[in-house]
Amino acid sequence: MSRNKVFEFTRPVNEVPLSYAPGSKEREEVKQKLQELSSRVEEIPLVIGGEKVESGNVGEVRMPHNHGKVIARYQKAGKKEIEMAVEAAREAKHDWERMPWDKRAIIFRKVAAKLSGPFRSTINAATMLGQGKDVYQADIEAACELIDFLNFNSYYLNDIYKDQPESLRTVINQTEYRALEGFIFAVSPFNFTAIGGNLPSAPAMAGNTVLWKPASTAVFSNYLVMRLFEECGLPPGVINFIPGSGSEVGPLVLEQPELAGVHFTGSSEVFRGMWETIGKNIAKYKTYPRIVGETGGKDFVVAHPTADKDEVTTALIRGSFEYQGQKCSAASRAYIAESLWAKMRDGLVETTEGIKVGGVEDFSNYLSAVIDRAAYDKIVGYIEYARKSDEAEIIAGGKYDDSVGYFIRPTLILTTNPKFKTMEEEIFGPVLTIYIYPDEKYEETLHLCNETSEYGLTGSTMAKDRDALNLAEDILTHAAGNYYVNDKPTAAIVGQQPFGGSRASGTNDKAGAMWNMIRWVSPRSIKETLDPPKDYRYPHLEEE
Ligand code: NAD
Repeated sequence: MSRNKVFEFTRPVNEVPLSYAPGSKEREEVKQKLQELSSRVEEIPLVIGGEKVESGNVGEVRMPHNHGKVIARYQKAGKKEIEMAVEAAREAKHDWERMPWDKRAIIFRKVAAKLSGPFRSTINAATMLGQGKDVYQADIEAACELIDFLNFNSYYLNDIYKDQPESLRTVINQTEYRALEGFIFAVSPFNFTAIGGNLPSAPAMAGNTVLWKPASTAVFSNYLVMRLFEECGLPPGVINFIPGSGSEVGPLVLEQPELAGVHFTGSSEVFRGMWETIGKNIAKYKTYPRIVGETGGKDFVVAHPTADKDEVTTALIRGSFEYQGQKCSAASRAYIAESLWAKMRDGLVETTEGIKVGGVEDFSNYLSAVIDRAAYDKIVGYIEYARKSDEAEIIAGGKYDDSVGYFIRPTLILTTNPKFKTMEEEIFGPVLTIYIYPDEKYEETLHLCNETSEYGLTGSTMAKDRDALNLAEDILTHAAGNYYVNDKPTAAIVGQQPFGGSRASGTNDKAGAMWNMIRWVSPRSIKETLDPPKDYRYPHLEEE
């Protein structure tokens, strides 16, 4: 292997979603995969040091839209398996961080190429069946976003490594970007297969070794990603796959002295708990762990009197209901000017009532089921709370049925109280709460929007009036880490809208961006003196 080269990755191009239109090749392929994967039960082991490990403690994955059907069984990690994984990560570290970085990155580039090609229908079908996505929602993330994460992260890492200090005639200065000392704990959520793949691979690309705990309801697709990592040449022990109960696995991993970082995406509540545990354990660690977490949201749409009624209606429907509102960025509170509301109310209600909800195998369904029983009960609880309240009225949807799958109709709640419970708390379901404000109170409403919820993830303002847009952008400076103008607040694309929020929404380290990759390296400054002095005395010490 020649080492005499200065290689650089060029800027990648975003992966383009496929159409899945009737008669298309991709539609046929994914339909076949849906049949194939739903006709068997995948047995999912732990993967530790490249070995398939069974703990004997087994969990099940059921289809959200047909909960009688088990599609996978998985082994859950306990204390013994966690210790094995820590040991495997330690053993793999030496060679992995010494591997030429471009060769490490090429492994993940290969994963991206396979996802774009022969593996695309498999990962999409698994995400549809296991996590309840329609084909388009699956393709834009399980395929496209994960491909983009892998391609762009290697490009950003290239930029980071390239950044070198000034040298002098007799001094050579270099910055070496070491991996962190210890292992990274990657903990991923159920709602994006792409995040499952990104949380362990981003630190791994930078030379770290990882313990990856996927969400139990996403373990099916996430295991297929893990297998793909291995097939594309990831050495044993670099990423160790340890599904299990978060509340059991979490504390056991967080007490390990070699914990060097946490790469988390999930709810704010869990993240706060993990941070607290890390705080309590701080004296145990060999290094201060880097803590990166992207968490919940209560994402808003503010519509000015000059906004277009059809554009607002579309932004609300797509932004609030796609993937059953189970995106951290999903619109879940809207502030609409009274005069605009008068023009759009009937159309919004009618469109919402007309949405088709059902199983993921029927491609004409716009929504499917929510992820599991706990999510269903929680969302239904909010709907019933609104139904009983004097301050709210359900103007569309509000119906649900869990006899076959966890189905909840897209629901619109109209409230007279801008601080109503469903305007403030993350529901994570197909529920949008709307507050109508008097046209002349636009500026006050922007302040209200800024102060209503603890989160700061995404939001959008819609208007034709430029001054109104500028005012909103200013007042809402800290209300959203991803802010949209005349658009829905969802669908961030890697390389275009780096994603993440602050306040209770996370550390805002922007997944799939240089900001995130920087957290997984620890720079070492190396100074080499070419002509070292031989006399300790400085000129100023000379007698006059
Ligand atoms: P969750 O917090 O319930 O679970 C996330 C992960 O944490 C899972 O793997 C879970 O098993 C694990 N976990 C649970 N308790 C733990 C503990 N004590 N220690 C360690 N790990 C533990 O979240 P979820 O339901 O999977 O996902 C939905 C949430 O994620 C929503 O709040 C959503 O807003 C958020 N989310 C945020 C982003 C973002 O980029 N900001 C993206 C996707 C999802």
